[in-house]
Amino acid sequence: VVAMTGAGVSTASGIPDFRSEDGIWNEYDPNDFHISRFRTDPKGFWRERVRMIEEAFGGDVEPNAAHEALAGLEAYGHLETLITQNVDGLHQEAGSDDPIEIHGNGQRVVCTGCERRSGVDPIMDRVRDGETPPACERCGDVLKPDVVLFGERLPEHELFRAQSAARSADVFLAIGSSLTVEPAASLPRRAYENGGTLCIVNLDRTE
Ligand code: ZN
Repeated sequence: VVAMTGAGVSTASGIPDFRSEDGIWNEYDPNDFHISRFRTDPKGFWRERVRMIEEAFGGDVEPNAAHEALAGLEAYGHLETLITQNVDGLHQEAGSDDPIEIHGNGQRVVCTGCERRSGVDPIMDRVRDGETPPACERCGDVLKPDVVLFGERLPEHELFRAQSAARSADVFLAIGSSLTVEPAASLPRRAYENGGTLCIVNLDRTE
């Protein structure tokens, strides 16, 4: 059994989704969070990023019943692989062991020079204190949120793992994902075409 989750599993934890009517991209301009904006104006990018996180994701966010159910399935040995489009880290917090994060994880930053990863919280503090853009303590290069920005390629290793899991799945659960964005759209199709049973769990009808 392979499960893939999208923004819908985290909305009950108070995390806004991206594409619905009160989604993030109705409030903020996606161009401000494009990789080309990060490259040309890392200072402005980081200021906007911190503002968005404080306004949209502020407060304590906890895993909900959906995260716990998936961690439970895994603990009982019924779930082989968990793939997530989310960058909130809530699956890990609920106890999932090693989810494949195809869009990265916003709880981390990555150095654009030496690729060292570290936690985002101290970096957010440094940005608030005026260090924009924040720099790597090891090599001095600019730090980037460890998430896939608009215009960026997906991490190859994670994508490869997700694709092989989908291909060999007997059952593929797609949960809380509109299945409109690649590769989320193609993973369930891949499972289905290889003889897997496809199960889509969404509030709204999935086209
Ligand atoms: Zn570095």
